[in-house]
Amino acid sequence: MAYLPEGTPLPAADLDDSPYWEGCRRRELRIQRCADCGRFRHPPSPVCPACRSFGAEFVEVPGTGTVFTYTVAHHPVHPALKAAVPYNIAVVLLDGAGDVRLVSNVVDARPGEMAVGMRVRLRWEPTSDGSYLPRFEKA
Ligand SMILES: [Zn+2]
Repeated sequence: MAYLPEGTPLPAADLDDSPYWEGCRRRELRIQRCADCGRFRHPPSPVCPACRSFGAEFVEVPGTGTVFTYTVAHHPVHPALKAAVPYNIAVVLLDGAGDVRLVSNVVDARPGEMAVGMRVRLRWEPTSDGSYLPRFEKA
């Protein structure tokens, strides 16, 4: 069962982040890395903020991490989310990707269980369009 209900709007790929979403479709968490200085960045963007290079590659990362911060949504921001509240929104510091933090959810944690520093691991959630979204579960 999906963490957030059917009808929740799905993200749309653009020129910069389409390799990221293609990785999600294959259940590979790929994070953009500068081809010149090696700095990871997310969300994907055309220019490295560290060295201004346009060269980039997408590198698969392990899919483990630590909850950097989180919040609990008590009010639905979209009508499809009415039945899902309260739900958590976590910012996960990914292992093996520099200082990249991914906004997601910890699908098996009740709101009172959430904690900064909680170790989590990736769990792919199927979407209605045949792709997957990176969610997390307690490690
Ligand atoms: Zn760079």
